[in-house]
Amino acid sequence: MDDIYDYPLYRPPSEAYSLILQITLGCSHNKCTFCKMYKGKKFTIKPFEQIKEEIDIFRKEIRYAEKIFLADGDALIIPTPRLLEILDYINEKFPERERISLYASPKSILFKTPEELKAIREKGVSLVYIGLESGDNEVLKEIKKGVTSEKIVEASLKAKEAGFMLSMTVIAGVLGDRDYTNHALKTAEVVNKIVPDYLSVLCLVVHDGTEIYDRVLRGEFREAKGEDILKEIRMMIENINIPEGKKVIFRSNHASNYLGLKGDFPEDKEKFLSEINFVINNDYIRERNDRYLRY
Ligand code: SF4
Repeated sequence: MDDIYDYPLYRPPSEAYSLILQITLGCSHNKCTFCKMYKGKKFTIKPFEQIKEEIDIFRKEIRYAEKIFLADGDALIIPTPRLLEILDYINEKFPERERISLYASPKSILFKTPEELKAIREKGVSLVYIGLESGDNEVLKEIKKGVTSEKIVEASLKAKEAGFMLSMTVIAGVLGDRDYTNHALKTAEVVNKIVPDYLSVLCLVVHDGTEIYDRVLRGEFREAKGEDILKEIRMMIENINIPEGKKVIFRSNHASNYLGLKGDFPEDKEKFLSEINFVINNDYIRERNDRYLRY
């Protein structure tokens, strides 16, 4: 079955046990300065016949698929009538599936009408992963995210309104060793406006082949130290205020993180802060394991 996939193949950590259906290749944006994921791939929507053939092959081989993840970088960009046909075929072949999820860019959400989003939701897509990266427009411009924080908020609220659960990632250390204050405060502000169901903080990893890597080589960008990244995350957490009665499941336990944090906002906020303070005050900041950071 492995030869069905066009590698490299990415999925969020929480989709480790999901059946991955690669209905698009690459990322429709593919310009973010820190991202290497799809640099070698031209964005393509696979022909429907090929998608059906691949689903048929998986169905023969896999007895039970509870969760299905639609790859690559922005499967929601597929025109709605075709996406609904694909979902119909998935639902016919995998009636046991409980959840379908995908990565979505803010633009692909904004392109769709509320009715289209609801139709996609009703066909079983219940979770969308969105990269916020930063709530600061200066940072979003610098990393070439191609969208403003206002548009990310608009897209996220539109997706929630259509009934999707939202999983959101932000990046600490994205400014290197420069002042992170605006990035931390504005990111927290955007999180407060959106109240995603899941929030993850990743830390910048400089990969060769990216624009940030070239800037490092030219001496224009210096990576932040682990302690400063933890202080940046602390500032974000201090300013994330989720009202009682709402819940954001928070994780910073990706291989890129200097400290694993796990819990929920609002009730674990003080616990997160005391864990960070303990590690900083006692100089317990761990090294990152390079083996897991390469891709
Ligand atoms: S971070 Fe996301 S949107 Fe940006 S290039 Fe990578 S996959 Fe595409």
